Amino acid sequence: MPQPPAPPATPFRAGFVVLVGKPNVGKSTLLNAYLGQKVAIVSPRPQTTRTVIRGALTLPTAQVIFLDTPGIHRPVHRLGAVMVEQAGRAVADADVVVWVVDLTTPPDEADRAVAGLLREQAGERPVLLALNKADAVDDAEAAGRPYGDLLRGPGRPLQCAAVVRLSATARSAAGRQALLEAILHCLPESPPYYPDDFLTDQPLRAIAAELVREQAMRCTHDEIPHALTVVVDEFKERSAEMTYIAATVYVERESHKAILLGRDGRMMKQIGRAARREIEALVGTRVYLELWVKVRKNWRQDPQALHWLGFEVER
Ligand code: GDP
Ligand code: MG
Repeated sequence: MPQPPAPPATPFRAGFVVLVGKPNVGKSTLLNAYLGQKVAIVSPRPQTTRTVIRGALTLPTAQVIFLDTPGIHRPVHRLGAVMVEQAGRAVADADVVVWVVDLTTPPDEADRAVAGLLREQAGERPVLLALNKADAVDDAEAAGRPYGDLLRGPGRPLQCAAVVRLSATARSAAGRQALLEAILHCLPESPPYYPDDFLTDQPLRAIAAELVREQAMRCTHDEIPHALTVVVDEFKERSAEMTYIAATVYVERESHKAILLGRDGRMMKQIGRAARREIEALVGTRVYLELWVKVRKNWRQDPQALHWLGFEVER
């Protein structure tokens, strides 16, 4: 008996999806939501993400590799310029662009700057407009936020593939699912780029450093803006149950060091405790975390310091 022809197999799709937008719109939150794990730190303060972070979501018929970028803004120091350059390069490397905006505020100059960058860098790539934080606005408010106009002009219109309203933080995944489906629709047919258990290109020690930075920013509120970076000096699995980590928090001024330490080192202890809990969840063992604070004057302006602190810069 001749066999009936097999139904055509669903082709596998894979590609790079860049998350761009101005600072603080929820790009990193969205990445973590899709991956189901914190690979990028999140904070209510802008410019938290400093390097491009890769995170892969592998599904039965597709692999989506997200590139989470530092927010696009007008740089005021060398580090800022490096961050914006990286975002531009990630757009040029991507198959699909997800432009994240914050529905709780009307479009502003910074959103127009992102549109400008996409006009320069996105070429023919499909652009998906993600209207994020929909949980925090009502329909009438949302209707007064003409983000879609930014896709049309001024200048060359962008290749708009879809406009999706969603919330990166809402319990309901409906909006995130709708955006994911729109992404899948745009992905090229391709074999996967990474093995299916690959989650992120961030080494554990880099995520650990970021988790310390997140807690240092959180615990000090607005007192030490961005003049803070963390280097993990040692990361050792002492046993199956215990990881030893020594990290240094670099600040630009003695006054920042004093704030970080707090009276009798109390602030630092609080930061250490909070970061240790986060890192324990990440590595799955108990963690012994030793933290130091050092002053490195003007590190954000100093190409040599930036290089030495792990940022890619031309010196
Ligand atoms: P990024 O700079 O674009 O990466 O933004 P983050 O992911 O760091 O998020 C900035 C702030 O917005 C954080 O305080 C998040 O908790 C918050 N946030 C992100 N997504 C949402 C959302 O969908 N709804 C609400 N209400 N807040 C959000
Ligand atoms: Mg971010």
